[in-house]
Amino acid sequence: MADRYQQFTNSPVGKFVVPKLGLPSPTPLRRYRPGRPLLEGPALVGAAPGGRLEKTVTEQLRGAGVEIATSATAGSSYSALVFDATGISDPKQLRELHSFFQSTIKQVGTCGRVVVLGTPPELTKSTRERVAQRGLEGFTRSVAKELRNGATAQLVYVAPGSEGTTESTLRFVLSAKSAFVDGQVIRVGTAGAGGATGTTPADWDKPLDGKVALVTGASRGIGASIAEVLARDGAHVVAVDIPAQGADLSAVANAVGGSALQLDVTAEDTPAKLVEYFSERHDGLDIVVHNAGITRDKKLANMDSARWDSVISVNIDSQLAINDALLESSVLRDNARFIGVSSIAGIAGNLGQTNYGTSKAAVIGMVEGTAPVLAERGATFNAVAPGFIETRMTAAIPVTIREPARRLSTLAQGGLPVDVAETIAWYANPASAAVNGNVVRVCGQAMIGA
Ligand code: NAD
Repeated sequence: MADRYQQFTNSPVGKFVVPKLGLPSPTPLRRYRPGRPLLEGPALVGAAPGGRLEKTVTEQLRGAGVEIATSATAGSSYSALVFDATGISDPKQLRELHSFFQSTIKQVGTCGRVVVLGTPPELTKSTRERVAQRGLEGFTRSVAKELRNGATAQLVYVAPGSEGTTESTLRFVLSAKSAFVDGQVIRVGTAGAGGATGTTPADWDKPLDGKVALVTGASRGIGASIAEVLARDGAHVVAVDIPAQGADLSAVANAVGGSALQLDVTAEDTPAKLVEYFSERHDGLDIVVHNAGITRDKKLANMDSARWDSVISVNIDSQLAINDALLESSVLRDNARFIGVSSIAGIAGNLGQTNYGTSKAAVIGMVEGTAPVLAERGATFNAVAPGFIETRMTAAIPVTIREPARRLSTLAQGGLPVDVAETIAWYANPASAAVNGNVVRVCGQAMIGA
């Protein structure tokens, strides 16, 4: 699983040879460690005239211990550039982006962050404003491609009236927790009823204290990492996997101080068993992560119906049945969180994966269809769409396919299971009530489907 090429590029010989040959040189990404500050250095915050977010965002960042600069100083290095573009109501004013970023982009430090804040185009007041706000997407994605040394850029569209609900998202996109999230567009306050404010956690290092989480497919890979991160954040994790994975499942559950539950998510009685289990053992359930997933690859012309059926059954059908049972019961606590695991294959399609691509696009449909319904009861439904993640699944891909898949992204490397898990933990945060209906790619801005 080790990325030997990345190890080579960061060796003394590699540092000499790689630039001369014009080869990609992936920077080791900064990842979250408890006790470290949100940002290692100052954040430069700017705004186009009339921006409605600058003040709140500055207060939120100061509260999070971030040192704020309000004007650029030549020669300084910034850990983050944050620009409130909500005041831009005409394409001509997009020039404000050039004014703020043209000289400062060179001052973004290693693994630094660029965050552009805008108004969701569909919620603007005029066509010209809509056009301008839509333009932010192309700007941010292009900036993400130009940044070097593991730095990333995201666009956060914040609905009017949801200004106070951005803190958990800012903390995520600025911190090392979003190491492998790049070039993404995030929407806050847009799905459904709106006005959901959530609860600010008493301790931002333990935001899930007192919460109960269900994680399917948790015996290994990404699921095991999700269990670890949710438990680190304070949740009691109930790790679910098939009986054949029983030993690994118990090891994961024990390591995170959680519980193991051997269940096949596709079994007809599983939804009812889950309702009964969480009602009786935990007096409720807060967080549902549908991570269990399988691949059964073959080109469509060679794919038998068993391969098709099994993938659809695990990757989408079982999840809908579980959701229905949970939502019909009274087991869900207030502010519940549902989280799906899609894939880049569900966005861009993939050769040999018609069944998998279908199921993972359907996961996005599940988010789109369920998020507005859940908003009415203060709950949310979001998904992650991982790109190339270093797991046993990707280690088994033939090297000639694996290397391009790993390298063809802005960050030029594979992500780690923890990168997917951190994104899920942001959705699960009680302060993320206004983050609903998102599908964020955890892909290092992969060229595929971009
Ligand atoms: P993995 O195969 O290592 O883990 C999947 C887990 O799901 C396994 O423990 C498996 O036993 C469990 N599972 C399968 N069928 C089940 C069932 N019927 N009931 C209960 N558990 C079941 O895979 P992974 O790489 O960790 O992937 C986790 C999720 O992320 C999957 O949904 C996958 O499609 C998705 N994903 C992975 C990548 C990647 O690069 N690894 C990329 C995109 C999406």
